[in-house]
Amino acid sequence: MVFEGLANRLQDTFNRLRGKGKLSESDVKEAMREVRLALLEADVNFKVVKDFVEKVRERAVGQEVLQSLTPGQHVIKIVNEELTALMGGEQAKLAVTKPPTVVMMVGLQGAGKTTHAGKLARLLQKDRKKPLLVACDIYRPAAIKQLQVLGQQLEVEVFSLGDQVSPVEIAKQALHHAKIHGHDYVLVDTAGRLHIDEGLMEELQQVKAEVNPDEILLVVDSMTGQDAVNVAESFHNQLEVTGAILTKLDGDTRGGAALSIRAVTGIPIKFAGIGEKIDAIEPFHPDRMASRILG
Ligand code: GDP
Repeated sequence: MVFEGLANRLQDTFNRLRGKGKLSESDVKEAMREVRLALLEADVNFKVVKDFVEKVRERAVGQEVLQSLTPGQHVIKIVNEELTALMGGEQAKLAVTKPPTVVMMVGLQGAGKTTHAGKLARLLQKDRKKPLLVACDIYRPAAIKQLQVLGQQLEVEVFSLGDQVSPVEIAKQALHHAKIHGHDYVLVDTAGRLHIDEGLMEELQQVKAEVNPDEILLVVDSMTGQDAVNVAESFHNQLEVTGAILTKLDGDTRGGAALSIRAVTGIPIKFAGIGEKIDAIEPFHPDRMASRILG
């Protein structure tokens, strides 16, 4: 189950509402108090929770709901719609441009960048595209090798110039290579650090300026909750990120990152990572995620 704690608490609350015949304003108020606590406990951003509860409450105390024959059901529908809106509403898709489409993968070390570069290559392959993986993480000793192993496993070409050439130069040559060899997607795996620092951001800005990416995907670890949101804000301020991949949703994650990132930063979540295997990736569907949370 996704976000088990949150899902259980919301489902308990709504089962109680469903059990009631007519709802009074105070029933709705009580339910909203529980929703608020459940979201805060799931580590959702404080302001996001406040706005969310306010919106739901306003809609839920409307006459149409309170006088309906199944008011509990109505309130759940409203919560479902507002949760969907919170996570971005419509599904946000990967950019499609005149080939090659250049995708830069950014994020902190350990978030799952390299793994997800491979997973994306796999998705694109299934879509009959020809991706090129580019090894621009020249600092983490095993990163190039890791990408090469993924490439072999997938039978996707990996472009590398070792760890003695600058990432900007590697990215530039990779793009040239992709144009000559008819790749439709160039997936640039960049370096991460344990923490955001100026050196990292400068390098990423230089790579961005060189290859002019169509998409900058921020890979964030959903297990880190509100930290993931802070990280996303920093990257977005410096690089204008176009989408996020939320990783490790298969783990024991509470939901704070998934439910806050879009509302706080405006970055659409495009994919969810749901395991260590190469095909453990899903396009992120806000409506399906909301339905899964509400059971
Ligand atoms: P990078 O430093 O950002 O390139 O991170 P890696 O791609 O090397 O991933 C770091 C660790 O997280 C590896 O052990 C991956 O197997 C693991 N990992 C990445 N994505 C997921 C995911 O969606 N679910 C789980 N359970 N583990 C993941």
